[in-house]
Amino acid sequence: MQDKEGTASGTRIAVELNSVKGFFFDTINTLSAPVDKRILQDALDQCAFYNDLLSKTVPGSDVHRINNAAGKPVQISAHTARIIEVALDIGRQSKGALNIALEPLIRLWDVRAQNPRVPKESEIQEAMRGSDLSLIELDGQTIRVPEDMSVDLGGIAKGYIADRIADYLRSRGVNSALLNLGGNVVTVGKRPDGQLWSIGLQSPEGLSGVEYFAVVSSSDNSVVTSGVYERGFDLDGVRYHHILDPRSGYPVSNGVVSVTAIGSESLMADALTTAMFVLGKNAGEQLAARYGYQCVFRMADGSISYTDGLSIKLLA
Ligand code: AMP
Ligand code: MG
Repeated sequence: MQDKEGTASGTRIAVELNSVKGFFFDTINTLSAPVDKRILQDALDQCAFYNDLLSKTVPGSDVHRINNAAGKPVQISAHTARIIEVALDIGRQSKGALNIALEPLIRLWDVRAQNPRVPKESEIQEAMRGSDLSLIELDGQTIRVPEDMSVDLGGIAKGYIADRIADYLRSRGVNSALLNLGGNVVTVGKRPDGQLWSIGLQSPEGLSGVEYFAVVSSSDNSVVTSGVYERGFDLDGVRYHHILDPRSGYPVSNGVVSVTAIGSESLMADALTTAMFVLGKNAGEQLAARYGYQCVFRMADGSISYTDGLSIKLLA
């Protein structure tokens, strides 16, 4: 074990942590714990397994098979079935704010492209045509998606994977760990020194000189953030980011800069953050409360609001 300074998502703490990093799900994933690096590497290998199961661009993945089934039923793994079950539930509860059938629209915007562009209105309308969630039939591990529809689990899969990685580490006897899957943070137990983990909530670029605007204390919990700064492009002074409003077909523009959900299951927290982002502050807070999750909203005017009783320290 190396003796070095661990960085717990923003707050420097002098504890003995080993870390491994890997690039999956289009983002950097960091696993840290006071254990042999080989255990962390085994956990990271699990990320590769889930990537190959859930990525829409990996041929043979569950999602790739669903999207290429031409309307026929497809057998999927229990993992994928669970993610889609939650996505459909939160999709309904959020009145379609979380919509995994927005795949054609997400592909059209392709905010990660080298030369991204703003699509034409006619293209946007066309891409939104096949996004009626109620047409997806999920029965156990069998799913049927109409031929002209396809799914994208980008707004929810990382949360599920973070839960599984935490379970895996616990099964290997790890009782203290910090996982960060590109903003999906899961804590296992407490820090090695017995203190709660400190999770920094990232400041949106350009709005503030400091890296983090708040710190949330956590143990055996998930702290998941969706932010406009994560992915997107700027054109003529407008920020086009990666969370799309299923009503307009454009990136959400409701004054929300970032939203964080805090609660026991990272899958739920991830699904909620995407839905809450679309719903905006009031309806978003209500949705989180319905599921027993706490939340933090950071708005474009710099205001910050959070659930009563949340263990949070504002820095900015
Ligand atoms: P997150 O960072 O968890 O909020 O997820 C954002 C990702 O979810 C995007 O990169 C898209 O792949 C996908 N996405 C964007 N808008 C939506 C939406 N309204 N419903 C479901 N998934 C979405
Ligand atoms: Mg999400």
